[in-house]
Amino acid sequence: MFINGEWVEARSGATFEVTNPATGEVIGTMPDGGAEDTEAAIAAADAAQAEWGATTAYERADLLMEAWRIMTERSADLAALMTREQGKPLKASSAEVKYAADFLRWFAEEARRITGEWLPSARKDQRFLSVKTPVGVVAAVTPWNYPISMLTRKMGPALAAGCTIVLKPAEATPLCAKAVYECFVDAGIPDGVINLVTAADPKPIGDVFTSDPRVKKLTFTGSTAVGRILASKAGHSLQRVSVELGGHAPFIVYPDADPVHAAKGAAALKFLNSGQACISPNRLFVHADHADAFIDTIVPRVAKVKAGEGTVEGVGVGPLVNEAAVAKVAAQVDDARAKGAEVPVGGMRLVEDGLDRGHFYAPTVVTGVTEDMTIYREETFGPVAPIVVYDDVDEVISMANDTNYGLAAYVYTRHLSTAIRAMEGLNFGIIGINDVNPTSAAAPFGGMGDSGLGREGGTEGIAEYQETKLAGIAL
Ligand code: ADP
Repeated sequence: MFINGEWVEARSGATFEVTNPATGEVIGTMPDGGAEDTEAAIAAADAAQAEWGATTAYERADLLMEAWRIMTERSADLAALMTREQGKPLKASSAEVKYAADFLRWFAEEARRITGEWLPSARKDQRFLSVKTPVGVVAAVTPWNYPISMLTRKMGPALAAGCTIVLKPAEATPLCAKAVYECFVDAGIPDGVINLVTAADPKPIGDVFTSDPRVKKLTFTGSTAVGRILASKAGHSLQRVSVELGGHAPFIVYPDADPVHAAKGAAALKFLNSGQACISPNRLFVHADHADAFIDTIVPRVAKVKAGEGTVEGVGVGPLVNEAAVAKVAAQVDDARAKGAEVPVGGMRLVEDGLDRGHFYAPTVVTGVTEDMTIYREETFGPVAPIVVYDDVDEVISMANDTNYGLAAYVYTRHLSTAIRAMEGLNFGIIGINDVNPTSAAAPFGGMGDSGLGREGGTEGIAEYQETKLAGIAL
C-alpha cells in the first residue's frame, strides 16, 4: 500500500493473493489492509491537503503532465500487466492505458483553466467574486473492469483541483493500481497527496471512508447495490458524492438505418471487455424490417470471435472476472432459452483447450428476447447480445427507457431528425449515434437514475472536486 509517501505492508501483516482470471494462476500478493490502515492514509491525505491545495495550477499541471508522460512511456508494460490481472486482450489493454493516460493530460490542461467569476449585484456599492477551491480529502473506490482508467478518471481531476486522495482499488486488480501509483511517485508527487489502501474485504475500508470527518468527498465506480450503500452512508456524513454505477444500455436500430453497419457496430461493441462494461449494449432493439439482415450479419461475426487468454494472438474475448459472473450469465441465457428464445451462437461455458482453468463464457447471441426474460430486465455484464425485434417505431423509445438505469444508449439511423428525436427522448446520460465509442477524456461521462450521480471527464469532471467560495465586497 502507499501511505504518506511510503510503500507499506498492512499493519496486521496480512496479505491476499491476486490471480489471473484466464488461468487461475497466482500472479502476486498485496497487503490486506483494514480500518487502521485506512485511518492512517486519511491522516496523511489530511496533513498534505493544505500545502497541495496551495500549489499553483501550473505546478499541478506539470506534475499531471509528467505522470501522463511516464504512463505513456510504460504503456506496453502496463497493458501486459492488465491483461494478466484482468484478462482483456492485449489490444484492449493497450487502448485502455492510452485512454487512462489521456485523463491525466486532459486534467493537466484543465488545472490551468480553473478560474473565478466577477458577478453583478443588486447594490451599486457591492461586487461579488466567486472562486473555486478544492473540496479537500477525496476517498475513491474503483472497480476491476477498467483497472487503470477508472483510477486516472478520478485522480486526474482530483489532483488538478488541488485535492488529496485515498484510493481503494478492487480486490481483483490491485496490481494495476500499484502500477498507476508508481507513475505518480516517479513523477514526483509530494508525500501524502495520493494514498493507496488495498484489501481483500472492502467493507471496513468503505465504512471508514464514509464516516471519517476528514474525508470531504466520496467518488465510487462499481455496482448500483454497493454504490447505493456507500452513497447513503456518505450522505449521512454530508460528504460530497459522485457514483458511477450499472447500466442497461439499449441499442436501437431504426428502419432507416443500414442494418449491416449496425450489426457490425453491435458485434464490435458488445464483446469489448467480455461485455463487462457499464455502457455495454444489453438490449438490441432491431426493427422487424431489418431483423434478418441484422441477425445474419452479427451471428457469423460472433461465431468467429475467439475466446482465450488475452496474451494469445487473435483472441478477441477474455475471461469473466470470476465464477459468480459466469454463473450469472449462464442463468440469464438459460432463463431466456426456457422462455422460448433461440441461441444461434454460443450459449455455454467454455472448457476446452485449457479454458476450464479460467472463467470463460462463449460469445453469445440470443434472439427472440421478450419482456418476461431476466436478460431483458437485468444488467448482464457478460458476452451476450440479446436481440429484441420491434415493429412500432413510436414505441421503441419507451421500450428503451423502461429501466431504472440511465447510463448509455445507442442509436442507428441515417436520418438526422430520427437521431435528434431519439437523443431528446432517451433518458440516458450518454448517447452514441451511429457511434460505438461515445467516450473520451474530453467528454462528460455519467448516468441518470440508478446509473449514478455526477459526471467524470470533460470540464464537468473537475467541478465534482471543487467548492465554490463567494466574496461579497462592499465598496
Ligand atoms: P462488482 O460487482 O462490479 O465487483 P462492486 O460494486 O462489488 O462491483 O465493486 C466495486 C468496488 O467497490 C470494488 O473496489 C469493491 O471492492 C468495492 N466494494 C464492494 N463492496 C464494498 C463496500 N461494502 N464498501 C466499500 N467498497 C466496496
